[in-house]
Amino acid sequence: MDAKEKVSLLKQARDYFRLGSCYTRAEIHGKFGGNARSGFSISKKYPVIFVFTSEEGKAYGYEDGWMGDNHLHIAGEGQRGDMKFTRGNKAIRDHVKDGRILLYFQGVGEKKRIFSGELRLVDYYPKPLPDKSGKLREGIMFRFKKVEDIKLAKELPDEEKIISQENRKEREVYNLPIDELKGRAAKADPNPLPVETKSRYYPRDPYVSAYVKQRANGKCDLCGQDAPFKTKGGEPFLESHHIVARADGGPDVINNAVALCPNCHKKMHHLKLEEDKQILREKAKE
Ligand SMILES: [Zn+2]
Ligand SMILES: [Zn+2]
Repeated sequence: MDAKEKVSLLKQARDYFRLGSCYTRAEIHGKFGGNARSGFSISKKYPVIFVFTSEEGKAYGYEDGWMGDNHLHIAGEGQRGDMKFTRGNKAIRDHVKDGRILLYFQGVGEKKRIFSGELRLVDYYPKPLPDKSGKLREGIMFRFKKVEDIKLAKELPDEEKIISQENRKEREVYNLPIDELKGRAAKADPNPLPVETKSRYYPRDPYVSAYVKQRANGKCDLCGQDAPFKTKGGEPFLESHHIVARADGGPDVINNAVALCPNCHKKMHHLKLEEDKQILREKAKE
């Protein structure tokens, strides 16, 4: 198919399905082709791959679904032996390069397939998964995002950028005479409108976080002082912190996490001193 034809076929496929509406596989494959049994069904007539998840998958021990990282995780194809990048798995892995879109359907009961939007592959990772007989083999988990979410996130300004711009401005004016600051502050807009931003949140494992706080035993891992106050539940208030930030590739594991008092926590994020990191690395080893 040439480029123009492809654009037209993509539009036809996208226009055909309504978000939240019910379809049957007979209807979908009758119109678009593709194997009516596969979880990843590749249309031969359209540059489309249909992605299906079902309640049945859970019975096999596949934990398909939206996870804490706000991504949709779906197990690859293949009922026996290690999963390989062939057929559907290969088509999913290469869908962006191949110019195919992913249309996602959630199964409800035997027949109903609810159109749940367009997906984009983010990445994939290996995971031991049970085969049909319940035996573990090497599986592939695909991680997707909804295309609408990607578009939305692109349009929003970056929260970190806004904050760093504000900080820079503040540093520029910090040493002005206090009377001038007061005068300027009086002229500021008292009710600036809130700005919708995109921010990146790295979910934390509650066990890792709870473990490092128990390990700290009520004292900050950096300054060694008692936690500044107790929570409503009576636990010493400390914050968990990653020595190598998640954004820099640091893992969410107990050897990369410590419990800090709020002052030391701010200090770590502002100064990032090597001597402090060394102290924390020692603590995290224990
Ligand atoms: Zn401290
Ligand atoms: Zn931190």
